[in-house]
Amino acid sequence: MTIKRKRVKFSKCFKEVFENLFETLGQNLKQNEKLAPHTTFGIGGEALLFYVARKPQDLIQAVLIAKECKIPFFVLGGGSNVLVSDSGFKGLLIKNRCNKIFLNDKKITCQSGVLLDDLVSLGCENSLSGVEFAAGIPGTVGGAVYGNAGAFGKAVGDLLTEAVILNSQGRIEEVKKEYFEFGYRESKLKKTKDILLSATFKLTIGEKEKIKKEIQKNLEERKRKLPQREKSAGCFFKNVVENGKKISAGFLLEQVDAKKIKEGDAAVFNRHANILINLGKAKAEEVKRLANLLKRKVKEKFDIDLEEEVVYLY
Ligand SMILES: Cc1cc2nc3c(=O)[nH]c(=O)nc-3n(C[C@H](O)[C@H](O)[C@H](O)COP(=O)(O)OP(=O)(O)OC[C@H]3O[C@@H](n4cnc5c(N)ncnc54)[C@H](O)[C@@H]3O)c2cc1C
Repeated sequence: MTIKRKRVKFSKCFKEVFENLFETLGQNLKQNEKLAPHTTFGIGGEALLFYVARKPQDLIQAVLIAKECKIPFFVLGGGSNVLVSDSGFKGLLIKNRCNKIFLNDKKITCQSGVLLDDLVSLGCENSLSGVEFAAGIPGTVGGAVYGNAGAFGKAVGDLLTEAVILNSQGRIEEVKKEYFEFGYRESKLKKTKDILLSATFKLTIGEKEKIKKEIQKNLEERKRKLPQREKSAGCFFKNVVENGKKISAGFLLEQVDAKKIKEGDAAVFNRHANILINLGKAKAEEVKRLANLLKRKVKEKFDIDLEEEVVYLY
């Protein structure tokens, strides 16, 4: 898709850029949208420009026009793995609501704004097994593929067979699983900043009752371990892989008494040391200070550098 627009400098001429974007994106383009309600942390300032994409064409158009106008843009899925700065985002925040889902034999193709739980449900309804591990993981397929989300030793990258992306040159490309170079909470999208438009997952035929039971078991396990009411972004740091062995970040954080540490309204969840929570009015800066302090403590005690799983939108 080509969008012909005049090139303008964002910082120099906001009005002109806004008019340019407005002409393309229409009434759905908003200004000064509070981002905290769009995240599970409930933290963050405003997006200067905000747009909800409900169809892949809208998503593509929004990304291309932002590139054309040379303004920063960010694609947000369910906002369940991000920490948004207190000063917000001085660019175009594109919220992805492209949520069509298609079943074709044993394959399910999801637009990237489909909720992971909807993929789990469709699999179960059709007696297709493989994605039960993802039950209860908040967020969209786009966010899940970006960070190769997973649980119980499995991850979405294990099931993905092919996908459609909008590459960084603004071209739509069909890619195979290998393109993503999936690793533990890693995919190539983190490096390329390509945008996932849709992804296809291959499941296997199973028994509906067994699938239901597995989903229920996983949800109960999550209920025991993870915050239910407290606002968080899930595990804050990645587990550490050293010489092929995985060391749980939660274990390392327990050893430095993380649960006793607080910064303002940012605290460590009392049932899981790798989950930072917002007690009510936490600022992003407080969460960041707490995270940095925890990293320093782990470095001092174990000489290990913890790496954030949560994405900072700063
Ligand atoms: C209570 C709780 C429990 C959690 N449990 C788990 C768990 O068990 N396992 C796990 O792995 N994670 C877990 N998480 C973290 C989070 O749910 C996952 O990382 C999820 O996959 C993020 O998806 P999202 O749509 O919310 O992404 P967002 O938070 O919206 O975005 C995350 C990143 O993905 C990028 N992105 C989003 N959509 C696209 C797209 N279409 N194309 C390219 N990039 C895109 C964003 O730009 C951003 O950089 C948990 C979070 C919470 C709050």
